[in-house]
Amino acid sequence: MAKEFVKNVTSMQDDFAQWYTDVVTKAELIDYSSVRGSMILRPYGYAIWENIQKQLDKKIKATGHENVYMPLFIPESLLQKEKDHIEGFAPEVAWVTHGGEEKLTERLCVRPTSEVLFAEHFKNIIHSHRDLPKLYNQWSNVVRWEKTTRPFLRTLEFLWQEGHTCHETDEEAHDETVRMLNVYANLCEEFLAIPVVKGQKTEKEKFAGAKYTFTIESLMHDGKALQSGTSHHLGDGFAKAFGIEFTNREGKLQTVQQTSWGFTTRIIGAMIMVHGDDRGLVVPPKIAPTQLMIVPIAQHKEGVLDFAYDLKEKLSQTIRTGIDASDKKPGWKFNEYEMKGIPLRLEVGPRDIEQGQVIVVRRDTGEKETVSLQGLEIHIQHILSDIQSNLFKKAKTHRENQTTTVTSFDEFKAKLSEKGGFMKAMWCGDEACESFIKDETGATSRCIPFEQERLAEKCICCEQEAQHLVYWAKAY
Ligand SMILES: [Zn+2]
Repeated sequence: MAKEFVKNVTSMQDDFAQWYTDVVTKAELIDYSSVRGSMILRPYGYAIWENIQKQLDKKIKATGHENVYMPLFIPESLLQKEKDHIEGFAPEVAWVTHGGEEKLTERLCVRPTSEVLFAEHFKNIIHSHRDLPKLYNQWSNVVRWEKTTRPFLRTLEFLWQEGHTCHETDEEAHDETVRMLNVYANLCEEFLAIPVVKGQKTEKEKFAGAKYTFTIESLMHDGKALQSGTSHHLGDGFAKAFGIEFTNREGKLQTVQQTSWGFTTRIIGAMIMVHGDDRGLVVPPKIAPTQLMIVPIAQHKEGVLDFAYDLKEKLSQTIRTGIDASDKKPGWKFNEYEMKGIPLRLEVGPRDIEQGQVIVVRRDTGEKETVSLQGLEIHIQHILSDIQSNLFKKAKTHRENQTTTVTSFDEFKAKLSEKGGFMKAMWCGDEACESFIKDETGATSRCIPFEQERLAEKCICCEQEAQHLVYWAKAY
């Protein structure tokens, strides 16, 4: 009995990786499947994804995009068409070689991403500048045969959306790349309460086949970074390889300029590692499947359950409200919903009913408040929005405390091992220095932030003239 009462989570301080595993399983977000590196999204995990998806889908449509659906399989010959792309993805591709007992004449790859499928389709449907821009998005799963896997962060199969667009000019494609990065940044900051750094990936870290890649990077509680969304200007590389041409406004044949951009279930991993604590998950109110959980106290007493159900019905009009009227003890329920990170708990018992009040407890701070039934709904909405902004502020403060400016390689190494987090340092632009830093410290270049500062004149590594300020970190 005692064991069931307290579902313990390993302390973050003791073992962050074990803490993470405990949270994803005990909060019932996922279960492991019999295929290595594949996860089952349980109802609670999937409901969080659905809420993220709803918000993002709205933003994707509001910026003029249409949803489509591409096939799961890519013929090998199609994948081979763009050289950089196949080189980048080949090591992680899963192949289908048989249909039933019969060997296929051509292997089919299970999509790791769908650039080539879109490219082939665009070639067929784009002929004139009047056909442009084409602004498409698809919600799907993709497969990447990863060697080491972690729930949400790296799995063989994951869910995402991938946007694919075609434009007349390089500038239009650039604007689209920026626009969608901003959509992701807004989703992260406004809804998931995760502060992000916006910037460009280095040549080494950019998407295979892209002209350049923009990224949003966030910082986890343990000081490691997580790439949280990317937006690529593809230039005309795929368009040339596939012959996606249109008659331009001058009546001449021209290749299109393309973009692609993706946002995945990985972000749930970020949400866990940015907001979670030793009691489990903390879900930001704006994406929480249940924002308020009602726990009736002494529910066997007359009138308590009826009162609690009435309250649920009333609050449900504007607040995602749940009720647990099971015969488990209130203490078990408190523990359970804290573990699941539900933003607010509402306790109501016979005495509260008599006095026209309820008790409301915040998951983020643990604060307990007695609230009058009059104006309860509005008061709860205020608390929820306060939790939302408090989570963002806390995460931002954490990131600021974990961001260090360094001007020498020794300092870089020392600070990185001492406190982790983001290292801000100047870089000459040479890939050799980037690789050296990675090999020596384990930190990778996260991005060249859009907001540049001139911290020093020389590259932190080779002492040649510095070109860019770069954010570096160990990353998931
Ligand atoms: Zn250098």
